[in-house]
Amino acid sequence: MNDYKLLLLANKAWAEQLREERPDYFTRQAEAQQPNFLWIGCSDSRVAPDQITNSPPGVMSIHRNVANLVYEEDRNLMAVLETAVERTRVRHIILCGHYGCGGVAQGWKREGTGAVGEWVAGVHDVYTEHAEEVDALPEGQRLNRMVELNVRDQLVRLARVPLVQAAFERGQELTLHGWVYDLRDGILKPLMTIDAGTRLDAVERPEPVLV
Ligand SMILES: [Zn+2]
Repeated sequence: MNDYKLLLLANKAWAEQLREERPDYFTRQAEAQQPNFLWIGCSDSRVAPDQITNSPPGVMSIHRNVANLVYEEDRNLMAVLETAVERTRVRHIILCGHYGCGGVAQGWKREGTGAVGEWVAGVHDVYTEHAEEVDALPEGQRLNRMVELNVRDQLVRLARVPLVQAAFERGQELTLHGWVYDLRDGILKPLMTIDAGTRLDAVERPEPVLV
């Protein structure tokens, strides 16, 4: 049997099981969504946000791109962000990188080509900003530190987006979290948070967690 057919079969089994356990489940799901979280993460297939956090459907809006980057010109991300902040009013936005990120590696070393190369160019700015610290590390630790510094810099960029700033100014409950997922043990490691009270020009580099 073709692999994609297995997906459809698995979906049927999943829906049937849920219907048995909670007969009103899909009726309620169809009414409206009220997610508490927006997740911005890497497209890497191993970092499946709802699975690694055991979140059922309806709890988390998800936006993923190569190397979990934030560009204000990215209308896709801005549309997701606007919906989450202004419409569904999530209380937490989690920006999550991961150990061994290929997108970060390509952007940092300017090795990406084609669309990926263009997309991850922003990672090189992260490297330029923190080159002294990254270059001083042993070779084997540099990529993990770049992953963490990328989370930091993207989180600050996210906090500077006008619609996020507007939410902070009107006193909306909203916290931005920078996390890293460690593929080696499956554990999410919180690096930092930003909220309305954070001075964005004085955000420190996070303590290293992914050695
Ligand atoms: Zn990645």
